[in-house]
Amino acid sequence: MGEKPKIVVLGAGYSGMMTIIGLQKQLQYNEAEVILVNQHPYHYFTTKLHEPAAGTRHHEAARVLIEQVIDPRKVTFIQDKVKGIRPQDKQVDLVNREEPLTYDYLVIGLGSAPETFGIRGLKENAFFIRNIDSVRMIREHIEYMFAKYRNEEQRDEYITIVVGGAGFTGVEFVGELVDRMPSLCREFDIPREKVRLISIEAAPTVLPGFDPELVQYAVKYLEEQGVEFRINTPIEQCDEDGVTLKGGEEIKAATVVWTGGVRGNRLIEEAGFETMRGRVKVDEYLRAPGYEEVFIIGDCSLVFNDEGRPYPPTAQIASQQGSKVAKNLISLLRGGEMQPFRFDLKGTLASLGRHNAIGVIGKRKVFGSTASFLKRANDLRWLYILGGVPLVLRKGFI
Ligand SMILES: Cc1cc2nc3c(=O)[nH]c(=O)nc-3n(C[C@H](O)[C@H](O)[C@H](O)COP(=O)(O)OP(=O)(O)OC[C@H]3O[C@@H](n4cnc5c(N)ncnc54)[C@H](O)[C@@H]3O)c2cc1C
Repeated sequence: MGEKPKIVVLGAGYSGMMTIIGLQKQLQYNEAEVILVNQHPYHYFTTKLHEPAAGTRHHEAARVLIEQVIDPRKVTFIQDKVKGIRPQDKQVDLVNREEPLTYDYLVIGLGSAPETFGIRGLKENAFFIRNIDSVRMIREHIEYMFAKYRNEEQRDEYITIVVGGAGFTGVEFVGELVDRMPSLCREFDIPREKVRLISIEAAPTVLPGFDPELVQYAVKYLEEQGVEFRINTPIEQCDEDGVTLKGGEEIKAATVVWTGGVRGNRLIEEAGFETMRGRVKVDEYLRAPGYEEVFIIGDCSLVFNDEGRPYPPTAQIASQQGSKVAKNLISLLRGGEMQPFRFDLKGTLASLGRHNAIGVIGKRKVFGSTASFLKRANDLRWLYILGGVPLVLRKGFI
């Protein structure tokens, strides 16, 4: 290691940003060289992408420029795409740089990719809620199809939207669509009852793993708003006309959005780390097995609870991991000991549009406007962590 240790953080998502915020708060100038690499010049709030996807909020509310939240005296930002990671050589290859980046410590927070479970045609024909670019496409596509319904032959599939997967993301997206429909239908002169919103889930329940009372509340509310649920019904194929369900039923839909699962970023597997669905089972300090200087966090990592079950990938665990890695790196740089990571589940909240939500905070179940208020407060809290009151005021009320 040279005189000034070099820390490279890959990905400016929840885990990467929390690492950077922790490092820049606690590091003295010149204590280490810190480099952040991200493919976009902005950090986006993955947890809010369902809103611009449905068109209920502008995508500007779901992103913030990285240069506005980092301290350039302590962190160097490189906007580039990671092409490959070579942990044996302690090097990272970027698309637009001939020279590889070298590091003493590497933090990988490159997020997830859609898991399509081998469903035929899904990758080619469905939309995915992944990033700002992908959700802009979804919103534009839905609007285009509504315009097409008016302008050409009025084919029902133009105004039929299928959402594959009724987990957290799927339900939040459907909830947003419900809120968007009245204004969209008004704009395109289409009676609301003509539009079909269909949520399809392979598991025997909506929101698998959620409290049954909360699930019932969510389903009842969304059904009252006209959402059709097809539960216990795997999608077998997706093509340009729509989806085919197990058993052969076809649903014609011009818009199919897949939210049915995620896996770790493919770069992790390609780097040679041992993975389960693209995620690395990290040690108690969040390091990759066999590489003491490589930390893997967020959706790329796999952490188990006391019963031996993996925690689902969430922003909550990702940001706690980022914070812990920052603390441990500082401790290492100063010759101290690392502390093991323990996830502290504060609660779970799922929105059902802009004014309704469900969730569990501690042991308490919350519904309706209370849950919605808490969800909103949580979004503002993230803005505060990133950029204090000025960022809350700039982005929190768009
Ligand atoms: C619609 C939706 C709603 C959600 N709601 C919630 C919620 O309410 N609560 C919750 O806790 N979790 C929620 N989640 C899950 C949560 O968003 C993720 O678990 C979390 O974002 C993971 O953080 P991360 O740091 O691992 O990855 P991300 O936040 O996805 O960040 C990864 C970063 O890496 C960058 N990147 C990727 N590949 C490259 C590359 N090759 N080169 C350079 N940069 C790259 C990306 O651009 C991105 O900036 C939701 C997810 C979705 C999609």
